Amino acid sequence: MKRSFDLIVIGAGSGGLAAAKKAASYGASVAIVEGDLVGGTCVIRGCVPKKLLVYGSSLSESISYSPSYGFGFDNLKINSKTLLANVKKEVQRLNELHEEFLLKSNVQLLKGWGEFKNSNCIVVKNRRNGEILNELYGEKILIAVGGRPKRPSIEGAHFGWTSDDMFLLEKFPNKILIVGAGYIACEFACILQGLGVEVTQLIRGQNLLRGFDGELSSALSEAMKTKGIKLRFGENICSIKGKPGELIIRTTSDEKFDSNGLLFATGREPFLEGLRLDQSGVKISNNKITVNNENKTNISNIFAIGDVTNRINLTPIAIDEGRSFADRIYGNINRNVNYDLVPYAVFSQPEIASVGMTEEKAKELIGKDKIKIYRSIFRPLSKSIPKKGSKCILKLVVEKNNNKVLGCHMIGENASEIIQMASISLLLGAKKTDFDNTMALHPTIAEEFVTMR
Ligand code: NDP
Repeated sequence: MKRSFDLIVIGAGSGGLAAAKKAASYGASVAIVEGDLVGGTCVIRGCVPKKLLVYGSSLSESISYSPSYGFGFDNLKINSKTLLANVKKEVQRLNELHEEFLLKSNVQLLKGWGEFKNSNCIVVKNRRNGEILNELYGEKILIAVGGRPKRPSIEGAHFGWTSDDMFLLEKFPNKILIVGAGYIACEFACILQGLGVEVTQLIRGQNLLRGFDGELSSALSEAMKTKGIKLRFGENICSIKGKPGELIIRTTSDEKFDSNGLLFATGREPFLEGLRLDQSGVKISNNKITVNNENKTNISNIFAIGDVTNRINLTPIAIDEGRSFADRIYGNINRNVNYDLVPYAVFSQPEIASVGMTEEKAKELIGKDKIKIYRSIFRPLSKSIPKKGSKCILKLVVEKNNNKVLGCHMIGENASEIIQMASISLLLGAKKTDFDNTMALHPTIAEEFVTMR
């Protein structure tokens, strides 16, 4: 069936959904094409189910403090089957909720995989049997197909899971090897350790979380080691043999690991497969779609947002790119996304969160003698009775000549919540004196940010 729309969005993830609903709110006729569940990586196999697993997993640390607070838990049993099943149910509920939101917003959802026939025409197909389900004509087309995890090309790589697979498991294995030192590797190492899995993490470099504040990344390494996660720096994987559930893994130092599972957390890449961009004329470079600051590709009616453009691959960025695209094209509001001062969080246990320049970046860009570092390192009150658990580190990077706070970084309880609020002050150009003049809220962890001298 041939149908025409003002806008066709390919991909119903966070960015695509935001753009489609916003464009429809301005009166545009909008179709959104999705071959998988509605919600995309964030809702279906990323941020949301991951954070639910973090909540489940972190209970084991809280329970370990319980005797100090007078609670006793004997014969504690962890059942990852129940947790995974409940997370799947919640994901299904959210998928249905997003479908309802589309209906209410007057956006037409077309299920199937979209591919370009030409720069104005999208064919929607069933990828399993190649059946053509729809042929759509769009005055404008927005590519919002996101990214996919990538595996290293080594012998037996197909035996390894990616983060997508982790959410499909019935239960977690007893023993796992994780490759990588980024967000996903650190978050899953902590989730799995908290759920009773024996975790070894192979890190090809010498640090976790390249690009993050070095002091926080070292503190996270220490905290993870104390929890029992085995961190192997300067080591990579060479080959994988065996069968699912019983893997024999060899590393670059010729060490052999027997493991029930293997997770590749070795980065993600734009999901361009099957889009037939060649038929649209849209150019790619370095395997990503290049766009200008208005998210326009080299073809004037085709736009791209989110991870498929491989810039800052975070959900709030994709959402804002989608909304600003719709504002500009259909709402006559000319605004660009503000990529300055994007806050980041790693939902490891303990959490790391950051906004603004790290100490390393400030030294490189401004100069070692021109910045001042304020820090507070302490054991939070919640750990004072149990007398165990990791310390918090709070750090401010300040430019000496104008007293401006360039960066705000933290590892510890509720770091992500605290840094989200701190990012407002940095956006407003706060100076160290503004932090000093802010009344403390006692007793909290965040008060340390306003009492650093
Ligand atoms: P990252 O880019 O964060 O980390 C990839 C890791 O894999 C790095 O440690 C890298 O090492 C390592 N690596 C890459 N290739 C190889 C290889 N061939 N062999 C061994 N190690 C390798 O990717 P993730 O997969 O963790 O996450 C992907 C993206 O998803 C993130 O960049 C982020 O944008 C997003 N994300 C955000 C989250 C959040 O906001 N909390 C959570 C999860 C994901 P090296 O450092 O040496 O290059």
